Amino acid sequence: MARFIPSVCSRAASASLAAGWLLASAAWADLRWSQGVFPVAVFSGYTSHYGERLGPSGGLEPHHGIDIAAPFGSPIRNWWGGVVKEVINDGRCGMGLLIQSGPYEHLYCHLNGSVQAGVYRSGSVALQSGQRLRGGQLIGHVGLSGRTTGPHLHWGVRYGGRWLNPAAILRAMAAARRQGG
Ligand SMILES: [Zn+2]
Repeated sequence: MARFIPSVCSRAASASLAAGWLLASAAWADLRWSQGVFPVAVFSGYTSHYGERLGPSGGLEPHHGIDIAAPFGSPIRNWWGGVVKEVINDGRCGMGLLIQSGPYEHLYCHLNGSVQAGVYRSGSVALQSGQRLRGGQLIGHVGLSGRTTGPHLHWGVRYGGRWLNPAAILRAMAAARRQGG
């Protein structure tokens, strides 16, 4: 199984640059953002933003996503309809899912449950690579797997191999809803 390695991504794509590039792209404009589903059903707050942050060694390291705090075991929903690209099980992301939706890939880390023979299971959820998913579908539960000190979802979004600031996407979803899009 191919490993998903967040650290290989360049820190050159800063939050503002990525957001500007994203909003200027045709693909971004084509998507109806109001269809996006907030991935955490029970929201407790944000614990870490996209960009650089202090790592365990005391140095700055890139953080290619946002951390959304939520109660242990609470449901995680699929942001956008797509296909499971990878079931992850490593020391950093822990148990996780990488889902492909057109040119976008969305990453969910630190899940509860188990991964065996490439199948992620949690409660009624059983997912493996190649499986199709609806937007809003239950895809797992908040846990403590991988490198984490408290229950939260690490949520990342890539477009064409570049990490975006997920907060910009959440803002676009909210703006589209306000416009009735
Ligand atoms: Zn994170």
